[in-house]
Amino acid sequence: MVGKRIEIKGIVQGVGFRPFIYTLAKQFKLNGWVKNTSNGVIIEVDGETTSVDQFIQHITSSPPPLAHIDTLESFDIPPNGHKDFQIYESESIQGAFVPISPDMAICDDCRRELFDPDNPRFRYPFINCTNCGPRFTIIKDIPYDRPLTTMADFPMCGFCEEEYEDPANRRFHAQPVACPTCGPHMWLEINGEEVADHENALQRARQMLKDGKILAIKGLGGFHLACDASSDAAVQSLRARKHRSEKPLAVMVFDTATAQKYCELSQSEIALLESKEKPIVLARKRIAGGISEAVASGNNQLGIMLPYTPLHLLLLEPQQDYPDILVMTSANLSEEPIAYTNSDASARLESIADAFLMHDRDIHMRIDDTVLSDFRGQAYLARRARGFAPQPIRLPAPAPMILAAGAELKNTFCMSKDNYAFLSHHIGDLENAETLHSYEEAIAHYERIFRIRPSVIACDLHPDYLASQYAEQRTCREELPLFLIQHHHAHLAACLADNGWNSDEQVMGVILDGTGLGPDNSMWGGEFLLGNYGGFERKYHLQSTPLPGGDAATHTPARTAMANLWQAGIPWDETLAPVSYFNDEERTILKQQLDGSINTPLTSSMGRLFDAAAALIGIRQKINYEAQAAIEMEALCVDDEKGYYPVFVEQDQIKVDALWQQLIRDIKNQIPTAILATRFHNSIVNMIHEIALRMREESGINIIVLSGGVWQNKYLLSHTVPLLEESTFQILWHHQVPTNDGGIALGQLMIAMHSLEKSERG
Ligand code: ZN
Ligand code: ZN
Ligand code: FE
Repeated sequence: MVGKRIEIKGIVQGVGFRPFIYTLAKQFKLNGWVKNTSNGVIIEVDGETTSVDQFIQHITSSPPPLAHIDTLESFDIPPNGHKDFQIYESESIQGAFVPISPDMAICDDCRRELFDPDNPRFRYPFINCTNCGPRFTIIKDIPYDRPLTTMADFPMCGFCEEEYEDPANRRFHAQPVACPTCGPHMWLEINGEEVADHENALQRARQMLKDGKILAIKGLGGFHLACDASSDAAVQSLRARKHRSEKPLAVMVFDTATAQKYCELSQSEIALLESKEKPIVLARKRIAGGISEAVASGNNQLGIMLPYTPLHLLLLEPQQDYPDILVMTSANLSEEPIAYTNSDASARLESIADAFLMHDRDIHMRIDDTVLSDFRGQAYLARRARGFAPQPIRLPAPAPMILAAGAELKNTFCMSKDNYAFLSHHIGDLENAETLHSYEEAIAHYERIFRIRPSVIACDLHPDYLASQYAEQRTCREELPLFLIQHHHAHLAACLADNGWNSDEQVMGVILDGTGLGPDNSMWGGEFLLGNYGGFERKYHLQSTPLPGGDAATHTPARTAMANLWQAGIPWDETLAPVSYFNDEERTILKQQLDGSINTPLTSSMGRLFDAAAALIGIRQKINYEAQAAIEMEALCVDDEKGYYPVFVEQDQIKVDALWQQLIRDIKNQIPTAILATRFHNSIVNMIHEIALRMREESGINIIVLSGGVWQNKYLLSHTVPLLEESTFQILWHHQVPTNDGGIALGQLMIAMHSLEKSERG
């Protein structure tokens, strides 16, 4: 007989870990106890040596589906003479914390019960169990127990309680467990009045969707706006009311077979679609799929997802003459954060939704849907949110408590504690008061649930970012050190950390981006860096080009194209699309602006280079959402075109005059748009390869980091990586965090951590 004390850290709460341990202990005839603490799970057992060993081995080899064990330590203790095995009450330890499970899609068992007429939870929209359902969005504080969630308002009925107390049951200690008798319910509201509840509400909602109406539907992390995605009229009216003219909308279908009707899906895309996180997967749209063109016009990709709550399943359940594909887009007005409380939704969405499908399970922390695509059989994230946050990223070494404020667009923030970096869910574009408010709320929430008090704050070099201003004000108020971090250095460090990089070795960073402030006060974005967590050198960059009107040029690719022509000394010939976009008077003003350097900040941005090319090729002169011109140009690319245009290096600048000259020659020769778009892309692929070879020769460095928003371009990524591989480079790209500014906070955090260590070493 031996005694053991076992301490486990990781995602081990709210995922059925204690019942799993209980069952396992019974199986191996061990006595003792298990309990949750604010720090993880602790187990004490008495038993035969071999049984105890096998018990421990089983814990690590086959944990419950949602569990994630980071560390397991066991200690010998004297046997305690326990008479049975028990699950103890949770205990709270000051300052300790435990990672919290993200929200997970409904599991197969619950799905079966949902459609089983003999089950007490038949068609109950809030069915869940230990292996699925809401977690992060309903947790107010730790430890994760029902009274500290938004389920506190729903006392369990006898039936639910029995399951909750039964260690052999799938719902043993499942905190959100509920049934029609005791749990949350749904209703339908029109003009602020409840018109139906329960199943009637669902049926009425379905009828309205069928009739082409727009519904606000409360989901897991917030409200969606839904309508029939095959109806042009419905989609157009949703766009008009939401003030979202062209940005693609996500859709939801009942199952994979239906998804295949609308998208061409590879095996790995199907795996991502069906994964327990149920993200929005960006996949190739089928031209003849039957979806309204207005859902994602000018785009060859469609953001598609499967139902992830029981309510979604009931909403999408197939029926004759009922739409098999629904638009499900975050419910907000243009760029504000997603609506998540009933009152907030009623107030803000009044002018958009014809009806509201509400329920009374409160969402404590709002969260958007995750958006990703497949790259080489793995997830490549565009927006990291539901199902992923707040799952921490493991750090190579323990870190002090740092807050990294993130960037302006697609903001996320990041906090460290012990070996974890908690990268927040997608907050949004920090450009309005509402988003700033949700940012501050989320920071306070993460600090509370993970027991973090930052001793240092890091932010972007750009003083105008609201995140930088938040960081500055807070460091003043709390007398904390502030680290200002260059945007593209942060991209590089984010990609290193994403790949678990734990070294001071120098790497090459090909950071292709929309924009970010450089230490020289110009806007960077086409950067070839040498660096590591500790610092960087700017080795090569795209030529600096004036941006007439600054921000105005970002919204009008035609302006950027005109500036590029002007800089290359190419005449403004009216047969060129961007030239003809402006009238004589506008051209005169533009020329005066450029000649006199009046409000023409310089930029080396790769994003702007793509804009200029898209405008010249005639794809788009003005954009309605970020990167629209580049996205539409990428959509035109064909795989069998190998042509490209040359670039030249002059000192540290990459000159594109020859590229423009040859592109314009092709335009005048009436080469098809798709070929022009592909040749432009190939030019960038080749340029990256050439500069990489040159830098390797100069530095001997063979490791290349690919980061920055432009790397969301899948044509660019999938053509550059093989070419670099052929030249035997070791290539790091993103896996756990987005390549765009949604990943930047992780990089800021790593750089700040490194600076701290350096200053401590003296
Ligand atoms: Zn379940
Ligand atoms: Zn119940
Ligand atoms: Fe960026």
